[in-house]
Amino acid sequence: MITIKKILIGKYGWTHTTFDEIDWNSMEACLQKRPSVYITSIMKLIHRWQPTLTKTSCYDKDTSKVKCSLCSERETQHHYLYCKHETFVMARKNEWLHFRKRIKKWKIHDEILMCTWIGMEEWSNNKSIVMRPELPTINEQQNPELSRLVDAAYNNQNVIGWYHFCLERISKEWKMCIRKCYDVNDEKANGKAEGCTRGIIENMWK
Ligand SMILES: [Zn+2]
Repeated sequence: MITIKKILIGKYGWTHTTFDEIDWNSMEACLQKRPSVYITSIMKLIHRWQPTLTKTSCYDKDTSKVKCSLCSERETQHHYLYCKHETFVMARKNEWLHFRKRIKKWKIHDEILMCTWIGMEEWSNNKSIVMRPELPTINEQQNPELSRLVDAAYNNQNVIGWYHFCLERISKEWKMCIRKCYDVNDEKANGKAEGCTRGIIENMWK
């Protein structure tokens, strides 16, 4: 583990603190019950070994092939996460709407989902640190404590990087936000927060 930590810290320019802020436990828990073929493909996805055009064209002399056929940008790994062509923009939006539907059963506050969506989209537009969005006040009681936690999670994710959010290296703070959506006296709240976090991670890998 120590070696992997060193490699990742070096590769992404994280500090040790940032590394420790990532919810590795939930990520690992999601992988544990999976067949090895699935784990291999997830690892390839995370470690950028998917056969995108840039990679496959290493065996090909025609360099024009490394361009995305939709936006004409060079197609590097995970290009679909930030391709600006409307086909991909719409696909990401639709995917997120489906995700929001699936995650509904956990009854978490929409503020959390909206912030993660905007964070990812802002990142795919500019690829830089993004401000926590001002969200429209929905017709319900404001929850200042939740807002404070969402702020912390959002800022923490800025440090880790939204690119990593897309790859499920999510801040531990998100689980705190989710926990806050359940009643303080709810004995099952911790379990629900854990389940919902894993649900989010597993969903991203679909
Ligand atoms: Zn593209």
